[in-house]
Amino acid sequence: MVLLIASAPKRTFHYPNSPVDGEALVSTQPLNTPPAPATAMPPPAAASAQPELVVKTATVTRTFSEAAQSLGITAQMTKTLADAFASKIDFQRDIEPGDKISFVFKDTGANAQSGSDNRRPVAAKISLGAVSHEIFLYKALGGKAFYYSKDGTPAKPSFSRYPVAFSRISSRFSSHRLDPVTHQWQSHEGVDLAAPIGTPVHATANGIVKFAGTQTGYGRIIIVSNQPPYSTRFAHLSRFAKGIHAGSKVRRNQVIGYVGKTGWATGPHLHYEVRVDHVATNPLTVALPQHHRLRGADREHFAEQAEERMALL
Ligand SMILES: [Zn+2]
Repeated sequence: MVLLIASAPKRTFHYPNSPVDGEALVSTQPLNTPPAPATAMPPPAAASAQPELVVKTATVTRTFSEAAQSLGITAQMTKTLADAFASKIDFQRDIEPGDKISFVFKDTGANAQSGSDNRRPVAAKISLGAVSHEIFLYKALGGKAFYYSKDGTPAKPSFSRYPVAFSRISSRFSSHRLDPVTHQWQSHEGVDLAAPIGTPVHATANGIVKFAGTQTGYGRIIIVSNQPPYSTRFAHLSRFAKGIHAGSKVRRNQVIGYVGKTGWATGPHLHYEVRVDHVATNPLTVALPQHHRLRGADREHFAEQAEERMALL
């Protein structure tokens, strides 16, 4: 394991909490960081009055988790980082001994509290041979901090639009429609996604299974409570995935069941619902949390900040 502490950068960097002033290179002290103490931790850079970004690098000998934790990253933060990289890296197959990981931290010096923020890298890079992937922490104006790819898209969408690879939308969301089986006018509180029996159905967001069983009409159904105020329903399933029952924790993209035609279904499809505060909404158009690119001032500020941090990785 190689541990490298960068020497003092000559430039001043923006921090997530600092105001957007468009003057990235002006040498001002960020407001949110206390002056560096005279007697600081071992890194020689700490003697500077300027708060620093510190780069730490390790070479993978066995696993990403082990390498990350050798740099002082908690197990929980390691998991957060792995999730943020998950759309680009398969941690079971892609990581090999000799690959490198780098993190940029805000150096809070000897005054560092045990709080999580100083253990949360503001940028991270994983180099797999000649290919590398980077993510950058950014707090949008008035929002929470998330990891983003270099182009300003969230590294990890928290809510997927579709739970299944489907061939077509066989029935749309509507407030009134004629049910083809019961021949009664009723609302269609979800969307029907046609797919062959046995097609895996994925959770669209992290959550907890509230119900997994059979209900009239729905057939085999899984109801998941997601982050408030959202919940999701997956119906007409042929079967449930292993370990899925009321109380199970599920993660976005996890396979929770398989397409079927149980209940009132004329053919194999997934009936998918998204409820917001228990009210059925159109799954194809409902605003999904965090599923946004950075725009406007945020996007500019992020690009500037990412470029500076990229140079350190
Ligand atoms: Zn339906």
